[in-house]
Amino acid sequence: MTGWVAEALATLQADGRMRALRPVDPVDAVTVRLDGRRLKLFSSNDYLGLSSHPEVRTAASSAAAQVGMGPRGAALVCGHTTEHAALERELAALKGVESALLFPTGFQANLAVLGALGGPDATFFSDALNHASIIDGCRLGRPRQVQVYRHRDTADLARRLAACGTPRKVVVSDSVFSMEGRAAPLADLADLAEEHDATLVVDEAHATLVRGPAGAGLAAEVGVGDRVHFQVGTLSKAFGAQGGFVACDAPTRRWLLNVARPYIFTTALPLPVVAAARAALAIATRNDDLREALRINVERMGLALGVGPRDGSPIFPVVVGDNTAAVAESGRLLEAGFHVPAIRPPTVPEGTARLRIALSAAHAAADIEALAAAL
Ligand code: PMP
Repeated sequence: MTGWVAEALATLQADGRMRALRPVDPVDAVTVRLDGRRLKLFSSNDYLGLSSHPEVRTAASSAAAQVGMGPRGAALVCGHTTEHAALERELAALKGVESALLFPTGFQANLAVLGALGGPDATFFSDALNHASIIDGCRLGRPRQVQVYRHRDTADLARRLAACGTPRKVVVSDSVFSMEGRAAPLADLADLAEEHDATLVVDEAHATLVRGPAGAGLAAEVGVGDRVHFQVGTLSKAFGAQGGFVACDAPTRRWLLNVARPYIFTTALPLPVVAAARAALAIATRNDDLREALRINVERMGLALGVGPRDGSPIFPVVVGDNTAAVAESGRLLEAGFHVPAIRPPTVPEGTARLRIALSAAHAAADIEALAAAL
């Protein structure tokens, strides 16, 4: 080990920012085993419990049995199969747009879009609490400037857009913020983007299948789906699978797959994963049962914790502040049988270390009440 690695580790330790992996064994959608103990999982993004749904299991295992893993190459070489194409059509239909493009992860989808939209003629406008993949996408795009506007502050964004002189403007925001659970003001963002002739990129990672008609997302819920140029999504949260996608018009998709390096130079998703995502999509769009179960759980947790509706989000942040104190709180909950890791900087701003509680439709009322009591 080189000296500076040891120094960096010592600094992380001193700041209460050292992270470590603790292997768990999944039992069901909301239960894991850790060191031989069963814990109720309140840390996952499996909002509808689809990761272990019987139809999803069967779809993945049948695909594996029939064709193995599949892609064997990048999408533009031989990795794009008829199953990938079918999933893209289904995702486009969900989002009400012409087309969609699949990525190995949601992280790469953001890198691809923002990487492709950048260049010296561009200014990016990014919400201060956007996800790390958007922040890194903004860096990858190397625009003339990245303007970070105050969290959900459309007046600040409007001022910055009005003062901007570059020919290309790109506004990018999470739709539901991953560590806050709050919703972005998407209708205002769409208005501002139009007014200033800006391209609008919205990351619906935490809203797809969870919000909107048939789970189309928050943009669809507030009626601006057709005014968002790039609707980014992930298959690794409410889909309970893995992967990312971008929903957009057909010429934009054609452009993206020709220029986006995080798309071109990586292997396509494995077929069992594509099959799992297709099954999850079918289950989640069949009716609103799972979204309704999640809504009831969100309401139950809100009442138990005595917090307001908070945009109806299944993400409940309990801000502790200090890094070490947040880790201690998480350890205390672990002892009580709940898996709720501490989230520390740089995932959240300095001084706002927290417990991030995330609910699933698969949680029982008793699980929620027990966690609220332990908190
Ligand atoms: N965007 C947001 C808002 C996220 O929270 C995440 C995952 N934490 C991602 C993108 C990345 O998605 P994936 O896990 O599919 O790479």
